[in-house]
Amino acid sequence: MPPKPKVETAFKYQRSTASNFKFGAHVAMAGGISNAVKNAMDIGANSFALFLKSPRKWVSPNIKEDEVKKFHELCEQHGYNPRTDILPHGSYFINLGNPDPEKEEKAYGSFLDDLKRCEVLNIGLYNFHPGSSLDGDHKESLTRLAKNINRAIEATEFVKIVIENMAGHGNLIGSNLQDIKDVIDMVENKARVGVCLDTCHSFAAGYDISNEEKFNDFLKHFDDIIGAEYLTAIHLNDSKAPLGANRDLHQKLGYGFLGLDVFRAIANCERLKDVPIILETPVENDDSIYGEEIKLLEWLEGRKVDDPEYIAKSEELAKLGSKERAEHLKKYEAKVAKALKAAAKTSKKRSTKDGDITNMVKKKK
Ligand SMILES: [Zn+2]
Ligand SMILES: [Zn+2]
Repeated sequence: MPPKPKVETAFKYQRSTASNFKFGAHVAMAGGISNAVKNAMDIGANSFALFLKSPRKWVSPNIKEDEVKKFHELCEQHGYNPRTDILPHGSYFINLGNPDPEKEEKAYGSFLDDLKRCEVLNIGLYNFHPGSSLDGDHKESLTRLAKNINRAIEATEFVKIVIENMAGHGNLIGSNLQDIKDVIDMVENKARVGVCLDTCHSFAAGYDISNEEKFNDFLKHFDDIIGAEYLTAIHLNDSKAPLGANRDLHQKLGYGFLGLDVFRAIANCERLKDVPIILETPVENDDSIYGEEIKLLEWLEGRKVDDPEYIAKSEELAKLGSKERAEHLKKYEAKVAKALKAAAKTSKKRSTKDGDITNMVKKKK
């Protein structure tokens, strides 16, 4: 019997060459960094994100030389430009603003190691969370963060450091766009710093971007505060929690409190054509959900808000997410009620105290 012809492994989702956008997703790199390229092809992604090492460990072995080679070859073969189409994500525990000098140094070590991995792989962008001021002074943390970005730029050649905006709980840096602006102001080489806007984080931090008009207003606000030239990437997530809830809870597109319209707006936003637009929606180990979402985004290109098919799609997805939205709304309302009660208690205490002082003063007289 003649040998069977070698068939190229077919990818689950066909990558769109017609799309004007770099829609992609955060893909796994288990079993070797080069697998990320195949995983991206499998979901039909035009860009992708990945971790450069285990995101839960401080130190990881260097990437093996043959893996680096394979990564380069696969990028070349499949037409991903590592300088512009790949946006690695830093470990979550890196906090360059940490007020504890020892912990700050440890974070810097891991951060620099990530940047060097990027350069070995010829990757041009690196996205990370700006960290938290914890119990320290917020302004000092911003200065510390900027200092470490400057150090890292000095120690590397070309990779752009991309600061992500945050959902706003606790003392997180970057929930307010002004924080990011303040940090960039202190960065010496401004060509090597950028910003990644996460749609879920923006909404959770209180920026209402739930329709096209509001999203455009937000971009204008971004341009006014930070500057248009710094917008380098987008993280695309719906939000499980309502506007301003300060919860970092990603949801599938159209299921959450954002709804489908902001994603339609993004899929028609001229200025976002060249930036990686990365999905981080919950997929529960089933990457085909990303494949479907990328197809959905491409389908949204050119759709108007009054398109009957779009309206039907938007309603269908909103319905699928309605139970979860109701649950999270209930939680949020309970939290707000509790906070209001606590605030009322403190203000009552304060006024009684003031009353005491007045009485004392009166007695003295
Ligand atoms: Zn992130
Ligand atoms: Zn998030």
